Amino acid sequence: MRSKKTTRDFGTDSYAGPLLEVNDVATHFKTPRGLVRAVDGVSFTLERGKTLGIVGESGCGKSVLSKSIMGLLPPRNVVRSGSIRYNGEEIGSAKASEMAGIWGTEMSMVFQDPMTALNPVMKVGKQITESLRYHLDVSKSFANETATELLRSVGIPEPARRVSQYPFEFSGGMRQRVMLAVALACGPKILFADEPTTALDVTIQAQILDLLDEQQRERFMAMILVTHDLGVVAGRADEIAVMYAGKIVEKAPTRALFSSMRHPYTEALFKSIPKLALPSHSHLESIPGRPPDLVDPPAGCRFAARCPYAQPICTEVEPPLIQQDELAHVAACHFPVGTEAGNEALARNKAAGVVAADSKVGG
Ligand code: SF4
Repeated sequence: MRSKKTTRDFGTDSYAGPLLEVNDVATHFKTPRGLVRAVDGVSFTLERGKTLGIVGESGCGKSVLSKSIMGLLPPRNVVRSGSIRYNGEEIGSAKASEMAGIWGTEMSMVFQDPMTALNPVMKVGKQITESLRYHLDVSKSFANETATELLRSVGIPEPARRVSQYPFEFSGGMRQRVMLAVALACGPKILFADEPTTALDVTIQAQILDLLDEQQRERFMAMILVTHDLGVVAGRADEIAVMYAGKIVEKAPTRALFSSMRHPYTEALFKSIPKLALPSHSHLESIPGRPPDLVDPPAGCRFAARCPYAQPICTEVEPPLIQQDELAHVAACHFPVGTEAGNEALARNKAAGVVAADSKVGG
């Protein structure tokens, strides 16, 4: 159903290209210290019905990237460049009034903290029906029925009663389900899920992630799942993009990424995932050091100061994203993990005592 608030068409259903094409997108923030290069030249495509996982530490730019694509950042003090094409139409420079026509109906977002994203003084049913009535030409009674049905579909028990309750009357997991119902109300074609389970305990996390999976498949929605946890996207995303300091440093189909990760940062993230096979109280590996200052990022590779594979060239020449073993697998590294060059670089650093001798060679 076309949004009644849309002021221009955002592509046609017959467009055969990717649903979302992001090309060399940069989002910089003006601050008293200078420009913060939060997102710095990111490109990817997303096909209909597919899930892209965007993974990286806090501050790597993954959430800013999602908000930038959706046009949710205030124009003041934000400098955006690059191209964002949705369904074949350029939206990178669309005004907020034009983007309002696609929020909810074409793209929607599930935020990390439903307590701040939901209106605390409005009944949850009303929050769903408002979105339906604002965006779509539907009657009040149809909107009310749809709200109840949506709550049922996201696993809220007794939805006919609970539509009349306020967000504070729901548990954390149930609130996240409500948030998802609000996001799904107008049938978006892309759902952005930004750290959707961070605030929840482990059992509820798995339930919410399963629910996202289920809804995405049933609705043939595309999804961008943003997380700091590589374990969250394993088995759920079709493709994974790893971001570091504002850039994508590796991108690959999920299977290829886990079977032959090439970037040392991806390897470090992987090593920091808790493994079931490890004895309890095992020490988890953390990534030493801190990400660089994005006001004045270092020359060369931005991961160099923390990288066990780093060699002198790494601080001089920025590695480009280049194809690895298979077409869709790219990584930006001079000494990729698991390659002869990578193994030699790591061995050199071990011999020189730059990294611990028990660091694993290869992927
Ligand atoms: Fe960057 Fe060099 Fe490490 Fe590759 S080996 S991640 S280029 S520092």
